[in-house]
Order: sequence, then C-alpha cells, then structure tokens
Amino acid sequence: MKILDIFRPDTKQNSQTETNSASNSCLVTPSLGISPAKLRGKLRDYLKKRRPAFRLIYGLRALREGMRGLILRKRGSGDHLKSSVSLLLGGERVLGRPMNVTIEPTNACNLGCPICETGAKVLGRPTGHMSLNNFQIIMDKIAPHTNTLMFYFMGEPFLNKDAYDMIRYAKSKGIPFITTCTNGDFANGEKVVKSGIDEVSFQIGGMTQETHQIYRINSNLARVIGNLKETIRWKNEQHSKIRIASGFILMKHNEHEVELFLKTMKDLGVDSAVVIDPCVRTHEEGLQYLPTDENHWYYDPQAFKTGVLKPRFLPPNECPWIYYSLSIHVNGSVVPCCRDPLGKHIMGNLLTESLDEIWNGVKYREFRKQLHSDQGQINICRLCSSYSPSPIQ
Ligand code: SF4
Repeated sequence: MKILDIFRPDTKQNSQTETNSASNSCLVTPSLGISPAKLRGKLRDYLKKRRPAFRLIYGLRALREGMRGLILRKRGSGDHLKSSVSLLLGGERVLGRPMNVTIEPTNACNLGCPICETGAKVLGRPTGHMSLNNFQIIMDKIAPHTNTLMFYFMGEPFLNKDAYDMIRYAKSKGIPFITTCTNGDFANGEKVVKSGIDEVSFQIGGMTQETHQIYRINSNLARVIGNLKETIRWKNEQHSKIRIASGFILMKHNEHEVELFLKTMKDLGVDSAVVIDPCVRTHEEGLQYLPTDENHWYYDPQAFKTGVLKPRFLPPNECPWIYYSLSIHVNGSVVPCCRDPLGKHIMGNLLTESLDEIWNGVKYREFRKQLHSDQGQINICRLCSSYSPSPIQ
C-alpha cells in the first residue's frame, strides 16, 4: 500500500489492519529517481532466498526498536526485545510475549464488500458480537504485555453495542496505543472521541455515492463523511489527542478520484489521508478491481499477465510478524495474523487457556516450524509478503 500522507510524514500504521478490507499498506516518500518502493523491492529480492540474511536484517532493526521502546519506558518493549532475539535465532519458541494484538469485537458487518470474507459471506464462522465480559477476560490476560491493540478484525467494530466501553476498559488497563478501522456508517463521533481511543481510520470506497458503493455495497457516503466530520468536531471540542485518519481504497473504478479525496480530507481537517492499495483473493478479482496503475499493485504484474496471482515478494520461509503479534477472533480463538479470517490455523482460545499456553504451545510451535521450512504450503501465507516486526508506540 502506498500512504500519501500529505499532512504527517511520520504516519505509522499497522499494516496488518488493512488487509481484511481489501487493502494493504506501506509508506511512500518523495521520489529520488528510483522510488523507495523499488529500492525496497530490490532489497527484498536479494533477501528472497537468504533466510539468515533476512532474519539478521529484520532482527537487528527490531532490536533497535526494542531498545528505543525500553529507553522511552514503553509497555511491551522488554517482550519486543526478547522476541527479536527469537527472530534472530529463528526458533519455534518465542521468548517475548506478543505485544501487538488484534481483536475482533464483532464479525458482523452492515456492508457487503465483495472481496472481504465477511462481506462476501464466505467467512465460515458464526456471526456474533464479543460480550463485554469476554473482552475483559481477554484484556486481563494480554494487557500487561500489550503495546498496541488493533480493535478490529473482520466486521464493523462499532456494530458491537459495547464497543466504546471495551475501548475504555482496554485503556484503563494501560494499553498505550489502541487503533481501529471503521467503514464509518455507524461510528458515533462523540463516543469515539470520549472512549479514549488513540486512533480511528475511516475507510471509504469513492468520492461519489456511485463510485463509493461499487465496493462499499450498502454504505451511504454522505453519512460516512458526516460521521467523520462529527468525530473531527468532537476531537476539537474536547481538545482530544485522538488521531483521525482516512483511507481511500484504491480500485479501478475510483482511481480518478484520488486528488479529490486528498483535497477533501485536507479541507475536513483529518490528521492523515492515505491511499490504500487493494488486496484481492483471485486473478478474476484482480481483473475487476486492481487499478490500472501497477505501482499500486501488491502483486507481481508479470505473473498476473499469465493468469497467476502472487505477491511481488515471497518471503524466504520467514515472517517477522509472528514473533510479535497474534489475532483473536470474536469467540476468543487465536490465529497467527489477520490473514487468517476463516480460522484455518487456530492456536488455542484465550477464554479458556492462558496466553503462555497458547503462544508457545504445540500448535504455535508446529506452525512456526512449518513456516520456517515450507512457508509456500501454508494457505494463508500464499498471498502474503510477510510483515515487519511491530513498531512500538
Ligand atoms: S507470512 Fe503468513 S504468518 Fe506471516 S503475516 Fe503473512 S500470512 Fe501471516
């Protein structure tokens, strides 16, 4: 994904958070002749079949991040450092606990986005909302080590009637950074701001109702923009530090609206406006939705021409992300990352087991072992380039 962050060049997004709504993200900086994306691509190509070098580079970078966090006395820094040692060693056990957690307050959604498993109704899990009590049980187990909480997985988080109380509870447990994504249709600006959440991202599908609803099926753009404005108004009224972001899900049918999006968001006063490169699941979806500008493709354009959908970069039996993070479904089940919306790799359940039992349990160790030897055979990894170690907030 490209972030055209026109207001704040230091934007740090949890790139995992965006993959479920047909999006994927990375920072973009001004052109230097050869774009940073191309430079990164070349470096990744070099590292592609060199797992030790891959681990070394990511591990050392992560150690530096952990040290920074430790100096700033940020929660989760000690675990981050220990996990970086595990990343460098490349074992199946992880010394640190996960400090970046994704949780699913609900897997229900009011929209029918065709590439999203929830929207397309192929999630294969019962639809439901997490109860406040279950959320608190989970928070009590994970909060002491959690630096960053992504309050969203599949589904629209603010459809859960207890969403705002959940955020408040998580903040009361001292989690430094809580963020969420919303389709905006039901976000209550006053409650969002007063919940104490650190960041909210409104994601839209177009700048007219016609283009917006091609992907954001059943959404009302005027209502979304209205709720965004209200959130900004409440932020200003409360002198809140909440960071209000907006994302434009770039697709073939809306790419002519990017400039209008950026200008509109600037005029509205959001803290950052980003263009989100789309994720698709199949070649057919790619033909229908990928923008004509291949610079916004997460996928290999040459392979795509031959009918094959694969990422530009395939990781070398390694994924830094799984040393630092886990994701939790609405029923408490733990999966390795947000690329597992269907629950293909359930590692345990945080409502009935402890974090330590799950994190270094047999299933997690088996998963890491397979990832380190045969990542291409793990279904959820096939369309993923892996993620970098989590930043500390
Ligand atoms: S490489 Fe696999 S384990 Fe890592 S983030 Fe991607 S899908 Fe998840």
